[in-house]
Amino acid sequence: MPDAAGKVFVITGPSGVGKGTLISGLLDRSDGLELSVSATTRDPREGEVAGRDYHFLSSAEFGERVAADEFLEHASYSGHQYGTLRSEVDARLRAGVSVVLEIELQGARQIRDSMPEAVQIFIAPPDPASLRSRLVGRGTDSPEAIEQRLNTAETELAAQGEFPNVIVNDDVQTAREELIALVQTELPLD
Ligand code: 5GP
Repeated sequence: MPDAAGKVFVITGPSGVGKGTLISGLLDRSDGLELSVSATTRDPREGEVAGRDYHFLSSAEFGERVAADEFLEHASYSGHQYGTLRSEVDARLRAGVSVVLEIELQGARQIRDSMPEAVQIFIAPPDPASLRSRLVGRGTDSPEAIEQRLNTAETELAAQGEFPNVIVNDDVQTAREELIALVQTELPLD
């Protein structure tokens, strides 16, 4: 077993900013770093696989697991519940594996309180209009859901100053390299 304990990397930013693309590039290039699969009450999108993309739970089951203190953090976002299960994180950290949490703002704040040692990274758009075109372009959300996500994005963008690390996703390759460089300087050496 490696000597060093793993670290937690929180990656946040508004819906449509491209967190998922940047994170998959990061995971491809980093040993000893794994993604925590979140739980959610929203319906699976086309192509999403249970256990790989999310643990899809009913509202009742999500509530029971909140009551049983199974979540490291959880939040309501766009009419659905999302949360990080302790079971996705604890054993990995003990085994020296670092973990990426791709979560929204309220969850990032909860982790800041409960795990101040976690590395917090905010992904920002070059301009707010790019969020709309990306959300419309990916075609996964209804027009109503897109408006809801864009409203929430205003609050999220206003909170950017809370984050010690901000990466602007203007050019995806540049942003990915910046993210990889940042994470690799923080990864524990074994
Ligand atoms: P989506 O429905 O687009 O997959 O995710 C909506 C938002 O929820 C995104 O900002 C995503 O980062 C966030 N999210 C995904 N998993 C979690 C989680 O476990 N906890 C929290 N707080 N937010 C999450």
